[in-house]
Amino acid sequence: EQEDIAGETIAAVSTPPGRGGIGIVRLSGPHALAISNALLALRNPLEHAMARFAEIRDPETGGKLDEAIATYFAKPRSYTGEDLVEIAAHGSPVVLDLLLRWALQQGARLARPGEFTERAFLSGRLDLTQAEAVRDLIDAQTLYQARTAAEQMGGAISRRIQPAKEKLVELISLLEAGIDFAEDDVDLTPDEEIGTRIDAVGAELAGLARSFERGRIVHSGLTLAIVGRPNVGKSSLFNRLVERERAIVTAIPGTTRDLVTERVSLGGIPLELVDTAGLRTTADEAEAMGIAKSREALADADIVLVVLEAGIPPSEEEAELLASLHGRRFLAVYNKIDLEDSSSGQGHAEEQSIRTSAATGAGIEALREALLNMVRTPGGESESGMLTNLRQHEAVKSALDALGDARAATANGTPHEMILLDLYSALRQLDSLTGETTADDILNRIFSTFCIGK
Ligand code: GDP
Ligand code: ZN
Repeated sequence: EQEDIAGETIAAVSTPPGRGGIGIVRLSGPHALAISNALLALRNPLEHAMARFAEIRDPETGGKLDEAIATYFAKPRSYTGEDLVEIAAHGSPVVLDLLLRWALQQGARLARPGEFTERAFLSGRLDLTQAEAVRDLIDAQTLYQARTAAEQMGGAISRRIQPAKEKLVELISLLEAGIDFAEDDVDLTPDEEIGTRIDAVGAELAGLARSFERGRIVHSGLTLAIVGRPNVGKSSLFNRLVERERAIVTAIPGTTRDLVTERVSLGGIPLELVDTAGLRTTADEAEAMGIAKSREALADADIVLVVLEAGIPPSEEEAELLASLHGRRFLAVYNKIDLEDSSSGQGHAEEQSIRTSAATGAGIEALREALLNMVRTPGGESESGMLTNLRQHEAVKSALDALGDARAATANGTPHEMILLDLYSALRQLDSLTGETTADDILNRIFSTFCIGK
């Protein structure tokens, strides 16, 4: 069904489900104003960017059901770029539902998830990276994530690719001109210069692609698995790190069978902590399953915390575990330092190790500090306009691939027409990043990840 989207007015409850102090019904489209006028007994007509007091009348009795504030934003100076009305009533789901049903009876259609933001995109109010940032801002779990999303919402990514795009367009027009005027004896741009220009564009895009390393972490966070043999104090350390008694601590080895997970924020990065069953060989079936899950968690984790017992030399299994982590991000934690025989000295002071007592709390701050450093370093410091999702990263990588092809072509004297094809392909990828040219199915996929009312 090919609907005339421009002609449709959409409506949705834009506040989260359930009871709230206020609840908002949002309408967008050419009939938003007329429909709102029909719903509300207004003392004054709605004017652009002015809040108006209104009464909601019971459709059956005609009596007053609720009081509301209606705000109107005239096209194109609204979030969606269309006529938009927000009716803020008291947050009774019953009243909001009634308002919404009335709006639908008046000819509005229920908005799909993300459709308000999609309209903002379609009307050119936001580019695609900005629209994605709206969703990220709503989903942010830490203030740092929110700040990153806000920056992207302000167009940070688009601003960052602009110079590369301009250089690319300049190169394309140079080659096009060479081809168009070839017969008029216009000198063709030397392949060497084309190569240099491609490299300049590529260098900028490569930096942008690299920013995903950091952006991905800011966006999705990291997982940290706590592993070690039974009874070394994994669950106790886990509880210390999440600052509450979440995992079960017992003196009986092999009691943690299911993975216990908890999200914490470390330096603004969401960190998913996973407490695992102790790694050891066992005949107990349930424990063996727990151990299998622990091995998976260990394999999947971005950071591994290996817990060992202070003052006791690592067992063969523990030594193997540590060796298997070579090249990965891990930290050895020697726990139970409070039990350590002082005469045994403070042995294992390796570089990547921390000494703690989950019992007394000693060393926990140092552990947190060490983790913070591990979370901070990968991908370097935050930068403006980081790529934060896979779609964006794929687009930039594809653009780089196309530039690589173009670069290779300049080296073997390929006709400029062919080089141009690769350059256009790179340009299309950059356009798809911001949404200047993006297939409908991709748009649908993006906006369907929003909630209704956004
Ligand atoms: P897990 O099996 O590795 O998860 O170890 P738990 O956290 O369940 O702890 C096993 C036992 O060691 C419990 O009795 C804890 O109270 C105790 N324990 C954990 N950490 C310490 C520590 O730093 N010092 C002392 N003295 N006991 C600890
Ligand atoms: Zn445990």
